[in-house]
Amino acid sequence: MKRLAAGPVICAEGYVFELERRGYLQAGAFVPEVLMEHPEVVEQLHLDFVRAGSDVTEALTYYVHREKLRVIGREKDLEPMNRIALAIAKKVARRTHTLFAGDICNTNIYDPQDPKALKEVEAIFVEQVSWAADAGVDYIVAETFSWGGEALMALEAIRKHSKVPAVVTFALHREGKLREGWTPAETCRRLEAAGAAVVGVNCIRGPATMLPILKRIRKAVKCEVAALPVPYRTTRAEPTFQSLTDPCCGGSRAFPTGLDPFMCTRGEIADFGRAAHALGVRYLGVCCGAGPHHIRALAEALGRHPEASRYSADMSKHAFFGTDKRIRAVQTTFRSRL
Ligand SMILES: [Zn+2]
Repeated sequence: MKRLAAGPVICAEGYVFELERRGYLQAGAFVPEVLMEHPEVVEQLHLDFVRAGSDVTEALTYYVHREKLRVIGREKDLEPMNRIALAIAKKVARRTHTLFAGDICNTNIYDPQDPKALKEVEAIFVEQVSWAADAGVDYIVAETFSWGGEALMALEAIRKHSKVPAVVTFALHREGKLREGWTPAETCRRLEAAGAAVVGVNCIRGPATMLPILKRIRKAVKCEVAALPVPYRTTRAEPTFQSLTDPCCGGSRAFPTGLDPFMCTRGEIADFGRAAHALGVRYLGVCCGAGPHHIRALAEALGRHPEASRYSADMSKHAFFGTDKRIRAVQTTFRSRL
């Protein structure tokens, strides 16, 4: 909270998508089994994001909950996987002086009509929050909820079973509301009233279809607001990355492995960062699909100069487009024919 009071806080998320692209995780279930198979890859990814400007090292416990592990038949690995994820993130956070965050998320079994399911949801949150608290996290992120009620349950678990602040962000699908029908503004008000330190939106929507919602959220609450879009070019007609269809592939659904042609440029992420910050949104990041280059662009847009900025583009020495006097005319005069 002290860091937020002093200026924006950048939080890299979306590790699961990046690890899938790198070949360490399977699209579909999206469970980061990589934690046990290649912990060194997860550690390096955290370091890459910190180097690019993330102020936070968030433990990769997204989709490391009991329900997800049940689906892939690895429930017995639940606790070790959570503890490994927390240990890796803690090591990186303490070494890099970034904030160390725990993470809980959508359970996919929340159903307001099913009391038995609600008990299971509660148990999922309580055990994951307890492991995060044990690991000594600085705060806990609760993210990607489609149900406002589920977000409130996650917040309650954090409040009851840890002593750290909660950042609660939810996901807005095509209709732009929570599944109960609550508006984003109303949901944020409820979360603030229930004790969340930061409230907002993450995942599912790209910058273009998340930005208009932020205005309403910022007006609705007094607490700090978070925004972590996916880095994809979502549109009014297809406002979420799960609704994007690709005309080059017979109009088929692009999610999750055909999203490449919709990827935002670094410039678009930078524009989003500036626009969101101008609205008063100070907890910023990028979710599923984000690479370190996006986080660096966001950091630079907010006036930062992270370690990776040493290698930010300088076209003055490019062989054809360069302006440096050492670049030969034999190449620069060919420019228009490239
Ligand atoms: Zn995401």
